[in-house]
Amino acid sequence: MTRTLPQAEPFRIKVVEPVTMTTREERARKIEATGYNLFGLKSTDVYIDLLTDSGTSAMSDNQWAGIMLGDEAYAGSKNYYNLLSSVEDVFGFPYVVPTHQGRAAENLLLYTLLRAGNFVPNNMHFDTTKAHVLHKGGVPVDLVRQEAFDPTSPYPFKGDMDLDRLESFLAEHNAKVPLVMLTITCNSGGGQPVSMSNIRGVSAIAKKFNKPFFIDACRFAENAYFIKQREAGYSEKTVADIVREMFSYADGCTMSAKKDALVNIGGFLALNDAALYQQTSGLAVLFEGFPTYGGLAGRDMEAIARGLREVIDEDYLAYRVGQVKYLGDLLLKYGVPIIEPVGGHAVYLDARRFLPHLPQDQFPAQALGVELYIEGGVRGVEIGTCLAGRNPATNDHDYPKLEMLRLTIPRRVYTDRHMDVIAVACANVWDRRSGIAGLEFTYEAPILRHFTAKFKRIDE
Ligand SMILES: *Cc1c(COP(=O)(O)O)cnc(C)c1O
Repeated sequence: MTRTLPQAEPFRIKVVEPVTMTTREERARKIEATGYNLFGLKSTDVYIDLLTDSGTSAMSDNQWAGIMLGDEAYAGSKNYYNLLSSVEDVFGFPYVVPTHQGRAAENLLLYTLLRAGNFVPNNMHFDTTKAHVLHKGGVPVDLVRQEAFDPTSPYPFKGDMDLDRLESFLAEHNAKVPLVMLTITCNSGGGQPVSMSNIRGVSAIAKKFNKPFFIDACRFAENAYFIKQREAGYSEKTVADIVREMFSYADGCTMSAKKDALVNIGGFLALNDAALYQQTSGLAVLFEGFPTYGGLAGRDMEAIARGLREVIDEDYLAYRVGQVKYLGDLLLKYGVPIIEPVGGHAVYLDARRFLPHLPQDQFPAQALGVELYIEGGVRGVEIGTCLAGRNPATNDHDYPKLEMLRLTIPRRVYTDRHMDVIAVACANVWDRRSGIAGLEFTYEAPILRHFTAKFKRIDE
């Protein structure tokens, strides 16, 4: 009998960063000192850091080599032109405004297109996108399919926009909608993919109402890989071709290169329309820098240009999506409630099922994050009531339907052995769940409060 070889990481590790495990007592002290906010910890006090997959990727030798080829010209560096050809080859968009990160691309786009009182439909706004829409006086409208809110629904594309609701929303509010957006994968919904047929459908509706259609493209390669795995008619296509098709339906995209461009900083706005390029690149001078560097060094743009070509490699994507699934499967084995199916960049613990004794206004997902840190030195991030902020009309918490602790896996950084540690730490917290207390604010900032909030335990 010939055994099937297991699939190992499609890379060798040639640089390492030591990490150290602290004691439980040290961790309890450190997290209390931050006001029970995981953002307040020093990264050196974290053993396995799953706060974000943003800017945490390990770059390849090819990207590091590109760093040395940085041409630090103010205008027209060769790295800018390499970025341009990479974006054109991978996505098909001819115009690119580099920005210091993804939210800056959102700022340029929304500043240009949005007026106070406008609506922006999206499957689900990511928190920075939502904050930028609100900042410009607009109203973010989430129109994701209902399955997205059912943590156990096996629907394969839980990031899909509800096309009927999009169409009726546009019919009703046509004059007040300056653009349609779609976030792939759907970060706020659990890293769930959007199907090609849905992208096509959103595009058709946007065209019917004559609205520009922009994709929030942060995890485009992971999304394309899910399409290849799950959508009829795509299993034989290359991820590169799937990506080209996805973006052929859009007028442009905002991109955080800190995700699927495998770099530590950067972003861009990519476009088809020359006039919109002129407007947004003009604004870039005000917010970012000259339009051919947009807040980035030449070396940063070179690393992005190379990362965009690397990330669509199918061995890489099989490893990437496979590692996240490996962690999800371990957690299911321990009986820990997670959002299923597992998304592309993270496993989301379902805090409502994990801590059913805590009402949402006691921040169950935040409380769970605190306990997981104390248990195993593992830092996740709350995607729940604290992140959602307040509803400007009522000033009450804008209670989200899902209350989650996101365990975000950095790209090419941790081994499956680290995944084993995370799973055991979660299982230990699961075993002592009934003794976990809720949290209340002792400090709350008016915008993006989750970054700086301070809490105390309600039993104290
Ligand atoms: C990270 C992210 C952004 C914002 O990008 P930054 O680089 O953090 O500014 C926007 N949308 C989604 C879906 C994201 O995940």
